[in-house]
Amino acid sequence: GRRALVAGVADDGGFGFAIAKALAQAGAKVCVGTWPPALGIFQTLLRRGKMDESRKFADGSLLEFEKIYALDAAFDTLESAPAEVRENKRYKEQGDFSIAGLAAQLTADFGEQPLDIVVHSLANGPEVKKPLLETSRAGYLEAVGVSAYSMVSMVAKFAPLMKKDGSFVSLTYMASERVIPGYGGGMSSAKAALESDTRVLAYEAGRKYGVRVNTISAGPWASRAASAIGI
Ligand code: NAD
Repeated sequence: GRRALVAGVADDGGFGFAIAKALAQAGAKVCVGTWPPALGIFQTLLRRGKMDESRKFADGSLLEFEKIYALDAAFDTLESAPAEVRENKRYKEQGDFSIAGLAAQLTADFGEQPLDIVVHSLANGPEVKKPLLETSRAGYLEAVGVSAYSMVSMVAKFAPLMKKDGSFVSLTYMASERVIPGYGGGMSSAKAALESDTRVLAYEAGRKYGVRVNTISAGPWASRAASAIGI
């Protein structure tokens, strides 16, 4: 069987959860990466059965995650996370929540080439509600770092863990190519970067590791992230 890692699942309302479920339905083992601030509540809701309806397959069985890892895709290594993040109560019990840390844990848990599929389903723009014209440099760089560079880092760190012909996919949005008022804070810029990087990563990682890299431009969907901005 194949194993997938879906990065960016913290509830049952977004694309990551739906993709994880579809992959499991098709026979894959599915691990997820969850943002540390959302991890506790996600595990509690799962344990208390609050997501059983959405976990249910047609035959009545429930979606099971092989493993739920803490992942903050803003950080490539644990050392690059500032002390106040590492010492935060939602982070300090989570081990190495960086992208490199997740790669190391996957290898420790499942061996040398544990992955067939990696899904990047995460984004964050702290100033998303602000028009680009009012976005600070820090907010812009945070949006691009978390939402676009995270994919570069994930391909760099996870491609060596992929079986031959492995596949990476991320989720983008049309605001990269057309003006969509409300999708601010540098998020439109982040998606444009993500799309361009997808082409370059497909070229580079395709040659170096024999993996594919794609992005899907999803239509608007009222996930937790999107509801916050009325997309
Ligand atoms: P979602 O809220 O289900 O997913 C976003 C996830 O990113 C959340 O689980 C959140 O915890 C996680 N996240 C935020 N910062 C993180 C970080 N630093 N490290 C790790 N995880 C982090 O919302 P969604 O709308 O399903 O978003 C999934 C992807 O789909 C995103 O890339 C989004 O831009 C994209 N997308 C969404 C829409 C839409 O209308 N909802 C449309 C096109 C593309």
